[in-house]
Amino acid sequence: MKLYGLIGYPLSHSFSKKYFTEKFSREGITGCRYELFPLEDIAAFPGLWEENTDLIGVNVTIPYKEKVIPFLDSASEVVLKTGACNCIKKIDGLLKGFNTDVIGFENVLLKNLKPNHKTALILGTGGAAKAVQYVLDKNGIKYLFVSRIPGEGRITYSDLDQEMIRTHLLIINTTPLGMYPHTDVSPDIPYEYLTADHFLFDLIYNPAKTLFLQKGESHGSFIQNGGDMLVIQAEESWRIWNTTSNV
Ligand code: NAP
Repeated sequence: MKLYGLIGYPLSHSFSKKYFTEKFSREGITGCRYELFPLEDIAAFPGLWEENTDLIGVNVTIPYKEKVIPFLDSASEVVLKTGACNCIKKIDGLLKGFNTDVIGFENVLLKNLKPNHKTALILGTGGAAKAVQYVLDKNGIKYLFVSRIPGEGRITYSDLDQEMIRTHLLIINTTPLGMYPHTDVSPDIPYEYLTADHFLFDLIYNPAKTLFLQKGESHGSFIQNGGDMLVIQAEESWRIWNTTSNV
């Protein structure tokens, strides 16, 4: 039996176990299991591999995408640049880290991007924001971080006026605001200045249409949730785990 899984804490609302279990059944993949490994402390990470010698790879979620990196034997260039790892594979007994959020976000973004989407606002400055930043840098899209906390290289929500919204047609929500069960909140931006030229991308996938996206839609903006990104990052993890070369 080949074992795969997810580490994080807590893991009560995990998408991944359901996704992989259904995938195995739908695609007739036998001899594989995907389990949840809630770790109260990242110090338990090495023990997980010692106890489960059939473990091939794991996904990593909040709050360990950054904290897991010191436990890896090697890491992809994307992990080193973003400082975030969401996929680990055991190769010849050694653990290598990858970041498949980047691939998920990039695929969905590029599929929907229009030539006028040249400047972006990234709402939030956490782990997912770093994956977004990497993709925007790679594709030559200029951006500003919007944070609750003033600091170098970022603006705050109170700096967002009509001109700022007019000149930033791509707005990406990487904050958890609006995520189930707190679906009645949204990032504090002046939605009244949104237009049909704007593209609002919310990394949240539950609910499918957050208040942030509903407000964008009501102004005719193009909207995208995090659902497709989530599926692509899961499939990319599966590809990495099942590629025989040292990926
Ligand atoms: P995180 O590291 O906790 O960062 C979230 C950032 O949002 C924080 O750094 C903070 O930035 C801002 N924030 C947090 N609470 C806030 C609040 N109450 N009001 C305003 N801003 C707040 O989380 P993450 O790992 O980056 O994940 C963020 C979201 O992306 C989650 O909803 C997660 O589910 C989603 N996600 C989706 C996918 C996907 O595949 N669709 C992949 C990864 C993540 P400031 O302190 O600078 O304001």
